[in-house]
Amino acid sequence: MANSYDLLVIGGGSGGVRAARVAAGFGAKVCIVEEYRLGGTCVIRGCVPKKLFSYASGFSTLFDIAPSFGWSVEASFDWSTLLANKDKEIARLEKLYGSLLGGSGVEIVADRAQITSPNSVTLSSSGKVLTADKILIATGGKPFVPSIPGIEHSITSNEAFDLKTLPKSIVIVGGGYIAVEFAAIFNGLGVETILAYRGAQILRGFDSHIREGLAEEMVHNGIKVCLATQPATIEKTENGLCVTCTDEMQMDVDQVMYATGRVPNVEGLGLENIDVTLGKHGEIPVDEFSRTTCPSVFAVGDVNGRAALTPVAIREGAAFAQTEFNDNPTRVDLSIVASAVFSNPEIGTLGLSENEATEKFSELNVYVARFKPMIYSFVQTDTRMLMKLITDAKTDKVLGVHIMGAGAGEMIQMVGIAVTMGATKADFDRTIAVHPVAAEELVTMKEPTYKIVDGERV
Ligand code: NDP
Repeated sequence: MANSYDLLVIGGGSGGVRAARVAAGFGAKVCIVEEYRLGGTCVIRGCVPKKLFSYASGFSTLFDIAPSFGWSVEASFDWSTLLANKDKEIARLEKLYGSLLGGSGVEIVADRAQITSPNSVTLSSSGKVLTADKILIATGGKPFVPSIPGIEHSITSNEAFDLKTLPKSIVIVGGGYIAVEFAAIFNGLGVETILAYRGAQILRGFDSHIREGLAEEMVHNGIKVCLATQPATIEKTENGLCVTCTDEMQMDVDQVMYATGRVPNVEGLGLENIDVTLGKHGEIPVDEFSRTTCPSVFAVGDVNGRAALTPVAIREGAAFAQTEFNDNPTRVDLSIVASAVFSNPEIGTLGLSENEATEKFSELNVYVARFKPMIYSFVQTDTRMLMKLITDAKTDKVLGVHIMGAGAGEMIQMVGIAVTMGATKADFDRTIAVHPVAAEELVTMKEPTYKIVDGERV
């Protein structure tokens, strides 16, 4: 006889685990099926190990300036120590996820689930059938790599976390979140790093000051940023790999990493059995309550294509459980989502970029501050911190905040509260500054650096 549940969750990542625990807390009988490791991309091969690697690489910047504060530092780096400690921490978190689920009364099944009907799944290894009133798909995403000759010689972020040895040189293909973060990590760890991006400027969709500012800083840090560059082939050579680009430029390196986006993880899920049609990016379309077109099936997190960010998946998971198991219809408002990019320097961003604001509002005030961070007081450096506020000139509302520099991720989280509450520039102005911190610039920018009226900068 099939095991039967109120809720069956497919995928033990951030969104699935949160939904399972909250639903179980409301008294639902819940089962979660995970084929790999509990924790999902974020914990196992995403945000968490990335941030740990980012800390590791950040020491080199500190070692560079330490002598100006009187320190003598003789530094060397051991990749295997970092890997071992990272693995230990990830295993600890994975275990914690298991015990939190178990403690909430959720049954955990280590297997792969295929949906066979609106209320049932079949497990690949055991062949068992599980039935449930509701099925939640929380299978996340996976790296996308274009198909070019020799692509099999490249790695993605999945493998970058477990490389046996640290390469001496690497080409990272892409210009998004993962590309700039790993460029910073490898560069900071002493790897000769090339970033190859097909477009005119990295971080498409981000504010233009941030895009240009980060590209400049990456170059200051010694990263070779190749724009308008698209690899055409990758060949194995005696010494490593040779990447030949469409313009025939060649790059000889130890490693090639693709960071060319992620796609929803839906392969083999059995969606054809429940009549769910995928969206144009391969995502499972959902409404604001994470409902698919099949009334008993829901989808949260990266797989629904709304916003591929851990906190969004967690919020969607909790909202789904509130709606379906606590009779408390809860929507997830994604109109203002702050995010951080752990590049070097770090980026914190929320709301509209200048381009987006220009399209939506007729009069804007734009405030830009660029300054040398205090930690560089004793050394010559081209490194600059950047803060930018974009406000609606008519209502004074803050529409966008963009920060580049140390601590930007922490700052944007706090600013996010004010902007979510509907803060105006006047609210920022009447906030008394904290001194001496970089973030005080956010509340001391008096006159607009420039205005934009009907799309024209004045
Ligand atoms: P992104 O979508 O951020 O960037 C993908 C990059 O790859 C873009 O620069 C894109 O170029 C380029 N690209 C896409 N297709 C090709 C191709 N065929 N050939 C060459 N280049 C190509 O994806 P990421 O993989 O960096 O990250 C995936 C998602 O994960 C992010 O969108 C983000 O939501 C999330 N994430 C968040 C992090 C955070 O919050 N700190 C960290 C890491 C990931 P183009 O711009 O021209 O399309």
